[in-house]
Amino acid sequence: MKKPLIIANWKLNGNQYFVNIFLEKLCYKLKKKKYNISIAPSSIYLNKAIQKTKNSCIKICAQNVDINKFGAFTGDISAEMLKNMGVKYVLIGHSERRIYHKETNKEILKKFEIIKRNNLIPILCIGETLKEKINKKTKDICLNQINLIIKNLGIKAFKNSIIAYEPIWAIGSKIPIKIQEIQKVHNFIRSKIKLYNKKISKNIIIQYGGSVNHKNAKQILKQPDINGILIGNASLNFNNFIKIIKIIYNI
Ligand code: PEP
Repeated sequence: MKKPLIIANWKLNGNQYFVNIFLEKLCYKLKKKKYNISIAPSSIYLNKAIQKTKNSCIKICAQNVDINKFGAFTGDISAEMLKNMGVKYVLIGHSERRIYHKETNKEILKKFEIIKRNNLIPILCIGETLKEKINKKTKDICLNQINLIIKNLGIKAFKNSIIAYEPIWAIGSKIPIKIQEIQKVHNFIRSKIKLYNKKISKNIIIQYGGSVNHKNAKQILKQPDINGILIGNASLNFNNFIKIIKIIYNI
């Protein structure tokens, strides 16, 4: 079994001091280890994070990318810039960007394409709202969101790509998550990919995100179709984050 991929999504949090200290301590704790750990800091700290983690197993993830290659797009960052800097993963389709930045499927598709073209690894976030869950639309929503890629770019686009199932109702929420239900959704996503390509469905990392913490992480990752976790809140506290890593990697 592959080592689970643990990604910390720091969102709009932290400052220079936080990034320095956190990554110094993390590199020290993970010295000589070969775990699959990634940190997604604010874009302004990407370069610092890359320098700080250079000789460690920690890889850096961008929280966003622009759809354009270059040009008059003030404030934006291109996939080529991320690649040149040494970024490995890029989050796209996160519900916070879909909601607060009105990101459309068309833009998410373009981002996926440009990330792949620059040999970066897209982490496509998908998932339903609470209303959609109550109305039993979870599978339809997830299927539509993965079909956006399959129908437009072909199933091969999912080779060396990652899907993060992040039910919107579970993000930063107090609603208890039912791990068996999450596993079922992951299994559904994998089974749909399998209809197109068995190898890709077997190898693709399908991460779970939504209120993961040191109490539920181990149980979540015991599920056969959950290959990693995307952590928001709990990744901002060094001790909590290390606790999760220790639980998962048995150290
Ligand atoms: C996220 O927003 O990607 C996330 C998983 O957040 P949290 O862990 O805080 O629910």
